[in-house]
Amino acid sequence: MFNFDTTYLDLPDRCYARLEPTPVARPELIAFNLDLARELGVDPDDWSADALATMFSGNAMPAGATPLAMAYAGHQFGSFVPQLGDGRALLLGEVVDRAGRRRDIQLKGAGITPFSRGGDGRAALGPVLREYLLSEAMHALGIPTTRALAAVLTGEPVMRDTALPGAVLTRVAASHVRVGTFQYFAARRDTEALQRLADHVIARHYPAAARAEAPSVALVEAVVDAQARLVARWLEVGFIHGVMNTDNMSVAGETIDYGPCAFMDAYAPGTVFSSIDRRGRYAYMNQPPIAAWNLARFAETLLPLVDADPEAAVARLTEVVSGFAGRFEHHWLAGMRAKLGLGTGRAEDAALVQGFLDLLQAAAADYTLSFRALCDAVEEPAAATEGELHRLLGDTPGYADWLEQWRARLDGEPRSGRGRATAMRAVNPLFIPRNHLVEGALAAALERSDFAPFERLLTVLGRPFDAQPDAADLAAAPPPSDTPYRTFCGT
Ligand code: AMP
Ligand code: MG
Repeated sequence: MFNFDTTYLDLPDRCYARLEPTPVARPELIAFNLDLARELGVDPDDWSADALATMFSGNAMPAGATPLAMAYAGHQFGSFVPQLGDGRALLLGEVVDRAGRRRDIQLKGAGITPFSRGGDGRAALGPVLREYLLSEAMHALGIPTTRALAAVLTGEPVMRDTALPGAVLTRVAASHVRVGTFQYFAARRDTEALQRLADHVIARHYPAAARAEAPSVALVEAVVDAQARLVARWLEVGFIHGVMNTDNMSVAGETIDYGPCAFMDAYAPGTVFSSIDRRGRYAYMNQPPIAAWNLARFAETLLPLVDADPEAAVARLTEVVSGFAGRFEHHWLAGMRAKLGLGTGRAEDAALVQGFLDLLQAAAADYTLSFRALCDAVEEPAAATEGELHRLLGDTPGYADWLEQWRARLDGEPRSGRGRATAMRAVNPLFIPRNHLVEGALAAALERSDFAPFERLLTVLGRPFDAQPDAADLAAAPPPSDTPYRTFCGT
């Protein structure tokens, strides 16, 4: 099925544990990503649903697979845990895809590993479908992310608060190396493994760093920039990761680990959805400083590779990590300018962006719909006085002034009219995986074994920027509710 070429096996064997998945009772394929399969060089026509279910449940390994659980550590809500690791995931191997990119193929929920720490090694159907939907939606939004290749029911219950149907997700990633992977070896003062891991990551993700005068410094710089870009994109679409522990931060700069993540409806910078994030450590607006904090932890692990003199090493990497804020600001402002329809940059733009966000916050307006309504307003000026934008923000103090500033700023731009609206609609999605829709699709699957809402949502979210008249119900904001939305870790 795959042409495996697994370079992770070249790392010292203390980086992972080799083992087979634990078989399941009655595997049943519930979702398979045909486009992604083709990208990976698989012709889906060659495989029956049963064969796919057998392989992607872990009941039989595709030829050439060398399943392994990766070792990693991590800071969870600020506290260091020296050993986490793949407690329920197994890397089947790496493949080079049709575009020449190396990808990891991993089963999540494949049984107990040496890193399971009392867990059952399994995953429940709800969180598997949730990750499938959310990660594919992020991909369609153009945001770096792990992907979902398959979801398989195991035919076995998993015990959580109640018994739930068990499932296995097949996840595809640029790699599964995390900040926490480096921390695992730093905590053990295993400089040899750190050097090998750094070389692996550089060769795989940041080859230019190999030619730098100090490759490990260049590596930190590259990861800082990748994360600054990524978190900027999250904020632009209203995404809240929810559990930005260092073990959930990919050094390749992809969004990874879709446990309690969720998209914000009404704009509120302090939004927190995760039930375990009681202090709001991972709130929407805290994501940039938390990313910087995690990157400082990453940089610390590389100190011994940077300079024999610890003070000199700290000074060098501190400077690199402190560059995060500026890089984030740069990427974020570029993205927000595009959302407002600006193709050029001016000094006053940051204030114009903030002005709009202040309006959204004051009105508790829907983040996604408000930006989308701006697209209509550039095409049809009356939309600002009687259309959707007016409905969302018209009564908010400062609206008219802001509109005037925005129009004046747009007048100074070379692009105009229809072209501008088209460009704006390509960066302001109409469809996001809204919480009430995701919950509805999961409930239908769990309560009635009805996967049609999941499939419909997945299809519509695959084209988030396109108007899809049949799917107007999936674009709408949720009905008002008195109870704040809560998410739970998908364990
Ligand atoms: P997460 O919260 O999914 O990022 O996982 C944190 C740690 O707990 C990782 O080491 C996981 O492998 C482990 N873990 C999560 N769920 C389970 C489970 N059901 N069985 C074993 N280990 C788990
Ligand atoms: Mg994790």
